[in-house]
Amino acid sequence: MAPPHAPHQGSMKPPRKLHIKSYGCQMNVYDAQRMVDTLAPEGFIETKTVEEADLVILNTCHIREKASEKVYSELGRLRLVKEDAARHGRQMSIAVAGCVAQAEGQEIIRRAPVVDVVVGPQSYHHLPQLLAHAGRHGRALETEFPLQDKFSFLAPPQPEAIRARGISSFVTVQEGCDKFCTFCVVPYTRGAEVSRPVARIVDDVLRLADHGVREITLIGQNVNAYHGEGPDGRSWTLGTLLHRLAAIPGIVRLRYSTSHPRDVDDSLVAAHRDLPALMPFVHLPVQSGSDRILAAMNRKHTSDDYRRVIDRFRAVRQDIAFSSDFIVGFPGEREEDFQATLALVTQIGYAGAYSFKYSPRPGTPAAEIRETVSAAEMDERLVRLQQLIDSQQSAFNQAAIGTTVDVLFERAARNAGQLVGRTAYLQPAHVMASSDIIGQVLPVTIQSLERYSLLGELAQAADARPMPPARSKVTPTQMAAARMTPPQITTGA
Ligand code: SAM
Ligand code: SF4
Repeated sequence: MAPPHAPHQGSMKPPRKLHIKSYGCQMNVYDAQRMVDTLAPEGFIETKTVEEADLVILNTCHIREKASEKVYSELGRLRLVKEDAARHGRQMSIAVAGCVAQAEGQEIIRRAPVVDVVVGPQSYHHLPQLLAHAGRHGRALETEFPLQDKFSFLAPPQPEAIRARGISSFVTVQEGCDKFCTFCVVPYTRGAEVSRPVARIVDDVLRLADHGVREITLIGQNVNAYHGEGPDGRSWTLGTLLHRLAAIPGIVRLRYSTSHPRDVDDSLVAAHRDLPALMPFVHLPVQSGSDRILAAMNRKHTSDDYRRVIDRFRAVRQDIAFSSDFIVGFPGEREEDFQATLALVTQIGYAGAYSFKYSPRPGTPAAEIRETVSAAEMDERLVRLQQLIDSQQSAFNQAAIGTTVDVLFERAARNAGQLVGRTAYLQPAHVMASSDIIGQVLPVTIQSLERYSLLGELAQAADARPMPPARSKVTPTQMAAARMTPPQITTGA
């Protein structure tokens, strides 16, 4: 059904309005921005109001059942908006993009006649042609994995778009996954692992830095499996790429996500030792602390392998903090498996973590396993795990009070005169200050904590008044606090 992929000539029509709603992971947030960039030369400008849109794109997530069901309920609401637009003589198009589009393309076409275009995550550079095709023939669907790298075909962001998105930006360096964890749809919806060439990534980051971006987060489903072609013709690791990007003037902070414990190599660990711009905060999902469950998940690492990876990072940077993802109630998970997860969390001491109830995904091997965990047990385990993680996160945040930490200022906060920025550990930090400092990294003395936000004042301002001397660096104390937090957990059934 895909139309020919002829390059589109810019149009002289009046601007059309595009509303895009993204679900799920950071890759989808990034993809949504790139769809906006790709449609900008077609005369589309973004609107936050769905009722005034000429084109609505739902950029969907298929990772858990709840996430994909949301799409159909949203399409029900959009049908009414589209009908109302038609009554007022206006044509609205609806496109479904992302991983639900990839996994359920034909099903969407069947269940939701309101949809004009269905486009998988590897084909959205064809959106202009697909919209034109739908205009001529009614509907268009493209969910193939084309051989060309879509990033080579996407329009670069306009300078105004870069500035409007702020001082922190995602850049995709790697896509897809070859790991095939038994619970996960990603290898099926995003396809095999592919890495972008170094030169293209460097071009993207130079453009972003030129227009005011100060922090780059390199993203990929398995970002540390990166092995893109370097300018020397060799395959570069993520660690080598980080070294190259750290040399770009204007880039003061680098991050990456999401990494896999099996792909942590020495160059990545060394980058944490050698690059001050590389933030000491690593999202390293482990999923479970039980070796039996890790094997059933096909994670191909044990809980001790994971502990050793954490130790390697900590050996080169004591102030490094970690976050993780956990799944509770994987088929066959017993109380002792779950206890092993709690023990791992207690031992590692996280600055934060995401935890999910297992959601069977059609087509994945785990969905075939009969030995399931009851909904009540899953709920109860999730509460216990989240209580433990919350207590560690609070201890980590509390330990910042009274210390002076570097904050990269991002934007005006809700309260007049207040700015918000982020610490190295992505904690939001609020201070009263002039907006001139947006884009700068400045030391802030933390005075209090309000839920998850740190409140403080610029250290220079604090220095002018008698204050107790700031403690050295926030982080080792924070890490120790998080590790030593007694597990405040209810005992299990
Ligand atoms: N590549 C990353 C890794 O290896 O950990 C994670 C990618 S996945 C998009 C994000 C998280 O969703 C996973 O770490 C896992 O915790 C969760 N997840 C994936 N499939 C799931 C499922 N079927 N049920 C519940 N959670 C799931
Ligand atoms: Fe999914 Fe596992 Fe790949 Fe992560 S490593 S994307 S959890 S299959």
